[in-house]
Amino acid sequence: MSETGKRGRTKEFDAWAKGNDSSTLNALNERVIACTRCPRLRAYCQQIGETRRRAYMDWEYWARPVPSFGDPAARVMILGLAPGAHGSNRTGRPFTGDGSGAFLYPVLHQVGFATQPTAYSREDDLKLNDLWITAAVRCAPPDNKPLPKEVANCSSYLDEELRLLTHLRVAVCLGKIAFDAYTAHLLRTGKIETRRGLTFSHGAEFPIPVGKHLIAT
Ligand code: SF4
Repeated sequence: MSETGKRGRTKEFDAWAKGNDSSTLNALNERVIACTRCPRLRAYCQQIGETRRRAYMDWEYWARPVPSFGDPAARVMILGLAPGAHGSNRTGRPFTGDGSGAFLYPVLHQVGFATQPTAYSREDDLKLNDLWITAAVRCAPPDNKPLPKEVANCSSYLDEELRLLTHLRVAVCLGKIAFDAYTAHLLRTGKIETRRGLTFSHGAEFPIPVGKHLIAT
């Protein structure tokens, strides 16, 4: 009989997931990193990377689109708004190196989704189990406010990613822009016929007909 690993999955399943989905998701991430569809956002991220914040003057900022991060066989996804200018835009990994990560990762570690409670750089050995973290917009926007056309520009990456995350069951959307991006994806890809009734409010939960669950926060 197969040996059962963390969260009920077998080691064989984990090996399969690593050998298959991750390589395609990695290829998608590589394309995201090289993306230049939004000139305003690309210029802003680079400018932040050049001026830097006083506390991070010895950092070489990532200053590129931030790739998604996590377990390719994840059943749970966190969908955020966009990278923080001096967090993910500096470190190159979601919720890493700023206050949002300092809040989020201890909680994820406590419930078994993260291997450690801290996240400060791409080389800190943090790994996720059963969780994938991504964003509606993958470049840091000025004032945390992407333009609608920038959300639209990034939407094909979300569609592609969600097609590859075949084990996903729960989507946790952080904020209204992420919530709207996810419900727009569901509509665009024919998983729902209307967004009627899917109204954002903090703590709201919605069953989705394709066997998924949507949580807004
Ligand atoms: S926000 Fe998305 S679509 Fe726009 S440049 Fe960044 S990665 Fe590309």
